[in-house]
Amino acid sequence: MNYTKIIEEVYQDVKNIDDKGHIATYIPELGNVSPENFGIHISTIDSKEFGIGTYNKKFSIQSIAKILSVTLAYSILGEEIWQRLGVEPSGTTFNSLVQLETDKGIPRNPFINSGAMVICDILLSHLKNPKQDFLTFVREVAGNSTLNYSKNIADSEKSAGFRNIALYNFIKSFGNIKNDASEVLDFYFSLCSLEMDCKELSKTFLYLANSGRQIDNNHQILNKSQTKRINALMQTCGFYDESGEFAFKVGLPGKSGVGGGIIAIHPHKYTIAVWSPKLKRKFVQSHAVFRTIYHKNAIFNILKIG
Ligand code: GLU
Repeated sequence: MNYTKIIEEVYQDVKNIDDKGHIATYIPELGNVSPENFGIHISTIDSKEFGIGTYNKKFSIQSIAKILSVTLAYSILGEEIWQRLGVEPSGTTFNSLVQLETDKGIPRNPFINSGAMVICDILLSHLKNPKQDFLTFVREVAGNSTLNYSKNIADSEKSAGFRNIALYNFIKSFGNIKNDASEVLDFYFSLCSLEMDCKELSKTFLYLANSGRQIDNNHQILNKSQTKRINALMQTCGFYDESGEFAFKVGLPGKSGVGGGIIAIHPHKYTIAVWSPKLKRKFVQSHAVFRTIYHKNAIFNILKIG
C-alpha cells in the first residue's frame, strides 16, 4: 500500500480546512506553542516510514506518556496492578473528582489523571531512581537516548496544578496512594512533560503494533497478552469521554495528549502520530482531544483503503 501518497493527500486536505480549535492554556507554557504546527508521521512494522508537515518538531506529549508509564508498571508487576485501578472507560473528563468518591479512590483506568497518578505511585515504590529509571526505559523503548523531560513544562504545570493536587489528596484519603504528595506529583508532572516529535512518537509505540516486541532489536517490552490489553485500554479509554467517538469514527487504539498529539496503533501494521496543538472547542477547558474530525479521518482513510 502506498502510505506516502495517502498521507500526503490527507495532509493537504486537512491543511486547507478552517480550524476552530484553541491551544490549551491551563498549563501556561503550552500557550507558547505556535497554533500553526501540523505534522503527521507513520512507521510500519516492516520499517517503512513517512512524515509530512512539522513531523520532526518536538512538542509536549502530555498524556500520551501515560501509555509508557502503565507499560513499565505492567511489565514489572503484571496483573497485580489491576488491584489498584480499573480497566473501564470513565465517561468523565480526564481530571474528574466525582467518580473517585463512588469508586472509593480506585481510578477507573490508567489514562485518566487519577489512574496515571496511581501508576506513578506504583512506579515510585518499585524503582530505585524513579524519574531517571523511567526516562531510561522510555529511551530504550524509543531507541533514542536523546529523549527528555521538559523542566519548563513540568514547572509550569506544577504552578497551576491545583486540580491534580486535589486528585492526589482525594485518592490518598482512600489509602490508594502510598508515597508523598511532592514525589507523586513531581513524577506525574515530569511524565507529562516528556517531549517527542511525531517521528519519535510513531517509532516509540511500534511495540504495540508488533505484539509487544521492539522492531529494531526484537526486545520483548510486554508479552502478547499484555500488549493486547494495553491496546484494548487505548481503544476504550484513550480519549477520556470521547473514547467512544474515536472508536466509532476511527476504530484504532489511540491516545491523546493536551499538547495536541495523538498516537494510534494499527496492530500488525503501523503506528501513526499526528500533531496539531489546536484542540477542539468543546474540550479546551475540560481536557485534551485533538483538533478536528479530519485527523481522525486521516487514519480512517488509511484503514478503508487498506
Ligand atoms: N498533564 C495534563 C494534566 O494533568 C495531562 C492531560 C492530557 O494530556 O490529557 O492536566
